[in-house]
Amino acid sequence: MVNLKDFNYGELERWVRKQGWKKFRAKQISKWIYGKKVSSYDEMTDLSKEIRNYLKENTELNSLSLVTYEKSAEDGSIKFLWKLKDGHTVETVFIPERNHYTLCVSTQVGCAVGCTFCFTTKDGLIRNLTTSEIVDQYIQSQRFVGVEKRISNVVFMGMGEPLANYENLKKAIQIMTDDRMLGLSNRKITVSSSGIIHQIKKMYQDKSFPQVRLAVSLNAADQETRKKIMPISETNSIEDLMKTLNSLPVKTGYRIMLEYVLIKGVNDRPEDAHRLARLIGKNKKRYKVNLIPFNPYPGSPFERPEEERVNRFHQILWQYNIGAFVRWSKGKDISAACGQLRKKEIDGKKVSFITKESLNLK
Ligand code: SF4
Repeated sequence: MVNLKDFNYGELERWVRKQGWKKFRAKQISKWIYGKKVSSYDEMTDLSKEIRNYLKENTELNSLSLVTYEKSAEDGSIKFLWKLKDGHTVETVFIPERNHYTLCVSTQVGCAVGCTFCFTTKDGLIRNLTTSEIVDQYIQSQRFVGVEKRISNVVFMGMGEPLANYENLKKAIQIMTDDRMLGLSNRKITVSSSGIIHQIKKMYQDKSFPQVRLAVSLNAADQETRKKIMPISETNSIEDLMKTLNSLPVKTGYRIMLEYVLIKGVNDRPEDAHRLARLIGKNKKRYKVNLIPFNPYPGSPFERPEEERVNRFHQILWQYNIGAFVRWSKGKDISAACGQLRKKEIDGKKVSFITKESLNLK
């Protein structure tokens, strides 16, 4: 059955025409789905009963159902657990920031990339999410938190490697940035990749891929260390990755974010900070560095560095005039921090989230 949220606007129009309806029906349907964010066809009151019935019988409107959610008492972030039609589950995190709201969205069930510090990847990749499953995380989260908390920012940093689900991600971003659909600002959408070089190049060469921000998980300043924590570095070396990033046609205001999870004794020494600064070299204006202290969990082989080590690392980057900031993960008390997204079990109807473990960002 067709799911209407799998269509970008052009496809929706074509589909509407194919049913023998006038083109403006696409506009009406889009307004109900993306503007009003309705959850049933009965709410689409300016469509005839006949059209509504046809839609009911031949299309799907919702891709996810809410299983449960947890709200952080610390910072108000909310972690949602959604069930997909085939029974798999994914998570989304709503994050209140100082002056806006951000949604951290998943693109895959599981992940094949295998970063050693990441909990999402432990069972490998189960499957890609469809476009509608990606888009519906935004729509249903927004519906849940209410219109007064408009989610203006989206980060593809949830479960999965977004660029390994390229086509569905692209269409989801087309829907998110189309003024006739969700109408979010391109600048407020960030795709975070573990650094798959050919996919990053493809994203920048592809004229139909809306220009959005790119974040790359670097997590080390040398190939040897990176290989240890990110096996993807074996085939996508840090040298080639930086060469690619340095040559991307990045517009003003779209600086590339280098994400760096600080792991005690692994990549957090002063010499690592100096090495990182040298790696960035003269391309300081092209990057921002996002330092994320690792959140250890019981049984984790890694530890979180002390605050003074984190501050020292940060200061060194500043000495080189590199724009760097420390992000203390939000929602730690509900395991919504980066890399923690993975529900513990589904036991009948009762779902328990992992509550103490914490891992990191891609
Ligand atoms: S950090 Fe991201 S890319 Fe790496 S294994 Fe986890 S989900 Fe996959």
